[in-house]
Amino acid sequence: MLIDNHNRVINYLRLAITDRCNLRCNYCMPAEGIDFAKRDNIFTMDELCRLSSIMVSQGITKIRLTGGEPFVRKDIMVLFRHLANLEGLEEISVTTNATLIGPYIKELKSLGIKDINVSLDAIRKETFERITRRKQYDVVYENLIKLIEEDFNVRINCIVLEGQNEEEILPLIALTKYYNVSVRFLEEMPFNGGSKQFSSIQWDYKTIYRYIEQHFDEIKKLESPSTSTSMNYKIEDYKGTFGLIPSFSRTFCGSCNRLRISAIGDVITCLYGKPRMNIRDILRGENSEKKIKEHILAAIGSRSKTGFEEQQKYNGVFNNSMTSIGG
Ligand code: SAM
Ligand code: SF4
Repeated sequence: MLIDNHNRVINYLRLAITDRCNLRCNYCMPAEGIDFAKRDNIFTMDELCRLSSIMVSQGITKIRLTGGEPFVRKDIMVLFRHLANLEGLEEISVTTNATLIGPYIKELKSLGIKDINVSLDAIRKETFERITRRKQYDVVYENLIKLIEEDFNVRINCIVLEGQNEEEILPLIALTKYYNVSVRFLEEMPFNGGSKQFSSIQWDYKTIYRYIEQHFDEIKKLESPSTSTSMNYKIEDYKGTFGLIPSFSRTFCGSCNRLRISAIGDVITCLYGKPRMNIRDILRGENSEKKIKEHILAAIGSRSKTGFEEQQKYNGVFNNSMTSIGG
C-alpha cells in the first residue's frame, strides 16, 4: 500500500499516455500547440502495460487514462485489455474529448470499462468550435449520445470560461433532465501552455453555484466520497446530476489520493508543482521494477499537504499545459 507523509492512502493513478491532441482547446494550449515530446521519449504501449502492473502491485487500485487525447494512440486497446485483466485493479476509467472513441465503444463495453469522462465545454456548435479551434462537434455529440445509450457511467466535464461559455451552463444542466449523466463544472486553472495570462478567476465554484441556484428551485445536495473532488447535486425529478469541481480554489487537497505519471515518465505528486522525478529511463533499464518502486515510495513520502503549499515551492509552474500533465 502507498501511504504518503500525511498519512493519506495513494491508490489512484492518472496515467497520461500521450501529450498529443487533435483539438486545440484555448484554455489548454496555444493555437500552434506546444512543444510536443519526441516519440522516442513517450512510453510505448508495452512499457505502459508494464508500468501499470508495477503500480498496481504497489497498491494502486484505480487508473484513469488521460493525455493529451488518449485515443490518438491507435494501439490504446492493448492497454485497456491489459488493465481489464490486471488483478487488484478495481477501477479503470478514461478522460477523453470523445472525437475518436466511436470505433472502440463496443470493445470498451465488453471489457467492462464503465467510467468515461467526456470533456465538453459547449453544447452549441459555434461555441464548441471557437473554444476547441477544430470542427469536430458532430462526431463528439454522436459519440456522447452513443456512450450514454450504451449505459456507460458518463461524466461531462465543462470548464467555465469567463466571456466564452457561461451561457452553456444551463443547457448542459438541462441534459441531466433527460439523460442519466453527471455534468460537472470546473474552475479554469492556469495550465494553458501560455495561451493567455492568468491571475485569478471570476467563475469560481461558489459563483457557478449561485448562478445555477438562481435558475432552479429544487436543488438537492448529494453525498460524495471523502476523496471526491466534486460537490454533487441533483435537480428534483431529473435523471442525472450536476457537480462543481473547485480545481483552482482547491478545497479538496486535504484528502488527495492521486498520483500522476506523464507520457514521458514524469512523476507528479501535485498538479501545482513540478515533476518530482522521471522514471522513463529507469523503466527501460535493468532491475526496473525494484527501482521504480523505490522512486515512487520516495515521491509519495515527500508530498505537500495542499496545492497552495506546493505552489509556493516552485516558481513558473504555470508555464505548463494540461496536455502534458493529463488534467
Ligand atoms: N484530451 C482529453 C480531454 O480533454 O478530456 C484528456 C486530457 S485533458 C488535458 C484533461 C482535462 O483537463 C480535460 O477535462 C480538460 O478540460 C482539462 N483542462 C485542460 N486545461 C485546463 C485548464 N487550463 N483548466 C482547467 N482544466 C483544464
Ligand atoms: Fe486536447 Fe483535452 Fe487539451 Fe482540449 S483539453 S486541447 S481535448 S488535451
